[in-house]
Amino acid sequence: TTINGDDYELIKVLILGDYHVGKGSVLRRYHYDEFELGVSAIGVDFIKRDYGIVDGKNYKIQIWDVNGCERFRTITSSYYRGSHGFLLLYDVTNQESFNNLQFWINEIKKNSPISSSSSNGLPPIVIIGNKCDLINDIKVDHIKSKQFCDSLSINSFQNVSAKDSININEPFEILFKQIIEKG
Ligand code: GDP
Repeated sequence: TTINGDDYELIKVLILGDYHVGKGSVLRRYHYDEFELGVSAIGVDFIKRDYGIVDGKNYKIQIWDVNGCERFRTITSSYYRGSHGFLLLYDVTNQESFNNLQFWINEIKKNSPISSSSSNGLPPIVIIGNKCDLINDIKVDHIKSKQFCDSLSINSFQNVSAKDSININEPFEILFKQIIEKG
């Protein structure tokens, strides 16, 4: 893409997962380093930031939030178009949000071209277990969730908190690296 003589490769990332798992909050923490309890929807469709130069190529990252459409599972295929990778969230205090990961993985498979170069037949995905600060309410078994992600060869973080800013940057960095290395 060239805009005003500025040459760059645009990387499009989608944040997916059930309603209320903290997608907007994780994105807000990552981008603005802010968090507010009870505040839903980040209020923008996407954020964009410079990633930097890798192997002489200038990368910019665009991260899209679904802004509530996931509640009714009405995310259209046009939303997926052109995306290079996915951050897939569940809420460690909500077992159903974990059980639904397979639904989201199926949606990703259905809506994005499967790369022949990937060993697991999936585009780059990183799975995040958010709200780990709510230690007394944790329902999802860490070991089982790790096993599930490992069995699909998906990088995962079982301990993330947008509230306490735990493991926020790492999943994004790993995903961006995975996308860029894949070319
Ligand atoms: P989304 O629907 O997936 O975008 O979820 P939101 O970002 O709107 O978050 C849903 C609710 O969970 C809000 O009340 C947030 O304040 C809360 N929340 C999000 N992340 C965390 C977290 O890491 N810890 C705690 N305790 N609450 C969180």
